[in-house]
Amino acid sequence: MAQDEPDVNHRRMREILQFLREQHPEQSLANHIGNVQIPPDNNQIHWDSSLLEHLDLLTHALDLKGGPSDIGPPTFEIPNNERRSLVEYYDAEIWAEDEFFEDDINVEFDFNDPYPNLPPWNGPNSSDYREDNIENPTQIPTPYVTQDGEMTSGIPRQMNELEGMEAWAWYSPMGVSHNPWGIYVQRKAPAAIAEIFFRDMDSRYEAWCLASRLLLHHEYFHFLSQYHCDSSSFSQPKEMKYNRYNAWCHQNQMDAREEAVANAYAFEKEELHMSKNKDERKLVDGWFSKQPRPYRDYVDFYRKMDLGYFSVAYQQESPIGSMSISPNLMVARRYKQKPLFPVPVYFVDDAKPEFNAPKMVTFSSITYSPKVARTRSKGKIPSWVFEKTDELIQLIQGKSIDKLNKLHRMNSKTHWKQNISGYRAIWTQVKNYNGWMIIFVGTHKEYDTYQARHKL
Ligand SMILES: [Zn+2]
Repeated sequence: MAQDEPDVNHRRMREILQFLREQHPEQSLANHIGNVQIPPDNNQIHWDSSLLEHLDLLTHALDLKGGPSDIGPPTFEIPNNERRSLVEYYDAEIWAEDEFFEDDINVEFDFNDPYPNLPPWNGPNSSDYREDNIENPTQIPTPYVTQDGEMTSGIPRQMNELEGMEAWAWYSPMGVSHNPWGIYVQRKAPAAIAEIFFRDMDSRYEAWCLASRLLLHHEYFHFLSQYHCDSSSFSQPKEMKYNRYNAWCHQNQMDAREEAVANAYAFEKEELHMSKNKDERKLVDGWFSKQPRPYRDYVDFYRKMDLGYFSVAYQQESPIGSMSISPNLMVARRYKQKPLFPVPVYFVDDAKPEFNAPKMVTFSSITYSPKVARTRSKGKIPSWVFEKTDELIQLIQGKSIDKLNKLHRMNSKTHWKQNISGYRAIWTQVKNYNGWMIIFVGTHKEYDTYQARHKL
């Protein structure tokens, strides 16, 4: 990047510190929050992950090896009004032979709503959505440092138009000493993107997940780009080749193809999961085409990823901007190989309370539904099946979402399946209940019937 141009890590760091100063106006007069020093704003501020960790603003969310498709969506707490109530899982039950005890589901408990005061999601073509509504998170000004290094205040919609994907998430390359390596995603991003671009979706939770996955795919492509650049590098140290290319990209933003290719990559990867849904495709295109060039030039590489991989690899070899030779399939094949090590993903929690930003699940509590507990006590299902679910509970409890690869997301998107040889368990979050609940354990056949009957 250009010597005089602050990189995205530094700019986002200044924004986060400014966010803190605004959230704690009294304390920031003394330039500290708790016992942590918050330096006054200046353009020498560098990314400091230990400070962010100390302030509890940085979460190591997961490690991506094969890309976001391998792990499914980032798993957020599901808004309470998008969950099903416990009773819905058990009415007209064909596998239930015993009586259903009302008492079991009317236990007293303190429900901690993960999103108190969440306004309703109005869904497709909502008529009461007004662009000028000040309650609308997309209108909430938020600290923004321009590419020239000037601190200002931005509106998420405008920031998207100025910086494309990097307004929300960014990739910090390997081998740059003052920047910690990894993918960074702002927690406010999925909420803001959902409100601005995905309001026509039926579910807020789904909109959050779609936005997060697209961001993760895009940033993961930057990792792939460096991974393959480094592995074909003869420089010493090997990152030198990528650093030279990266600097060239920053100085020649309109000629560099990587952002356009990364968006095409994200679109195509996500499209695999929405082949039946043309509307979602339109929404994603609506978001991408509101991004600046070269981001919105993704259409040049859409369904032409071999050309995209080649374009990036070509510019890494000799960044001159234009190409006259035909795509080399060997390069494309290289990009299709999984990297040998994963890239860490961090969530940065600089969401203003008004954003109602998604919260990652913590698995602080995982329980069996009263119905499943009764099934267990009756011994109709071999005990080793429950021992397997117990094991997974032990493994996941209190941990973050990266252990969720042991579960498979079902069609309903808000239920997860655990495979246990010939048996299945279903995990979900239940309306007005804290934590997670296993609402079904049964044979594969019973599972098929159950999930069809309950449309899971
Ligand atoms: Zn990017």
